[in-house]
Amino acid sequence: MSFQSLVEKATIPQESGLMPSTPFDANSFNQVVMSTYGRFPLALERGAGCRVWDTQGKEYLDFVAGIATCTLGHAHPAMIEAVTRQIQKLHHVSNLYYIPEQGELAKWIVDHSCADRVFFCNSGAEANEAAIKLARKYAHTVLDIANPIILTANASFHGRTLATVTATGQPKYQKNFDPLVPGFYYVDYNDIAAVEAAVTELDEGNYRVAAILIEPLQGEGGVRPGDVTYFQKLRKLCDEIGILLIFDEVQVGMGRSGKLWGYEHLGVEPDIFTSAKGLGGGIPIGAMMSKKFCDIFQPGEHASTFGGNPFACGVALSVCQTLEKENILENVREQGARLREGLRAIAYKYPEHISEVRGWGLINGMEINPESSLTAPDIVKAAMDEGLLLVPAGPKVVRFVPPLIVTQQEIVQALKAVEKVLEKITA
Ligand SMILES: *Cc1c(COP(=O)(O)O)cnc(C)c1O
Repeated sequence: MSFQSLVEKATIPQESGLMPSTPFDANSFNQVVMSTYGRFPLALERGAGCRVWDTQGKEYLDFVAGIATCTLGHAHPAMIEAVTRQIQKLHHVSNLYYIPEQGELAKWIVDHSCADRVFFCNSGAEANEAAIKLARKYAHTVLDIANPIILTANASFHGRTLATVTATGQPKYQKNFDPLVPGFYYVDYNDIAAVEAAVTELDEGNYRVAAILIEPLQGEGGVRPGDVTYFQKLRKLCDEIGILLIFDEVQVGMGRSGKLWGYEHLGVEPDIFTSAKGLGGGIPIGAMMSKKFCDIFQPGEHASTFGGNPFACGVALSVCQTLEKENILENVREQGARLREGLRAIAYKYPEHISEVRGWGLINGMEINPESSLTAPDIVKAAMDEGLLLVPAGPKVVRFVPPLIVTQQEIVQALKAVEKVLEKITA
């Protein structure tokens, strides 16, 4: 069955036979699931392409994509084929043995990036943990630093484990989880003087900066693209003093920016970089790549039970091959430009509420004027009523991260919804 006919079939809920007879019961849900998330009153049941349906059968245009994750949208035939094939063949074995799918996926990544080798895990936080551990071991064994410090940026996001939440330069995520992990220090993003000052100031006794962990574009922190000059100076500084430059590509990587990796926008290559969200198109997988420092970890020093299993790697490989075969990056650039242009035209009509539209490819943010009383969640809620799913990136930025297969028609539809939302919300 073709993708188009799958999408068409899925748009006829009464024929799907999937409609539940009773509405979703949020109270029962909340009694048994921990309240770690602030949830919208919406339960999604199925999807096809860039569309999802809630348990009442209402259709939404999905510009969240599991937060920049479902790169091929929902129910893509390539994923259905890969998932089915892999579950029938072999889904999980231990890393005690060679896993051919893992080798094939690593080969694809190495062939399509500056990486020499890959370590597989299951999420973005885990990939960053691996990078942090690699950097620390490098600091101890190569740089001879007893107390290595890793610099990260204010307003960054690197995950929720203790080490990655410490690396995350946002106090709101760290509150009440102290004592945090030692060895991290924060500098302002896109500010080279701040990095230079930190490197000098933190060089004392057994303490020294060993690495910088940074996003090529800050996603959660407000969709803030990295500055080319800043990143080039950062690369030069790291080379001069022999410290590691680590890029967190968990959100911006795997084609979301219109290039396969965010660093391609900046004209520099990292020593280490991490990927997760889009890598498996929605199947949990994470990866940590390194360019030169591939022999730092020795057998037994780092591991993951699920990491790199045949299922996750087989599906991720098919996602990667589909991105390439269907020339999806070109679509990302074209539709991304169309979306930004449309959002800017809307923003132009509401200067008192919208101050900026920015981003790369299909990761874009619409910033609300600090003087406006509107918040990002206000716009997200109003958009949901209009059948468009969006996600905040901080209190004042609305994020647009649709599947990378989004069509021109869907961009136009989303823009119409945003226009309507602003009309209503500012009336
Ligand atoms: C989402 C995200 C993470 C964390 O990924 P998880 O899979 O949720 O652990 C890390 N870094 C960046 C830049 C992210 O966007």
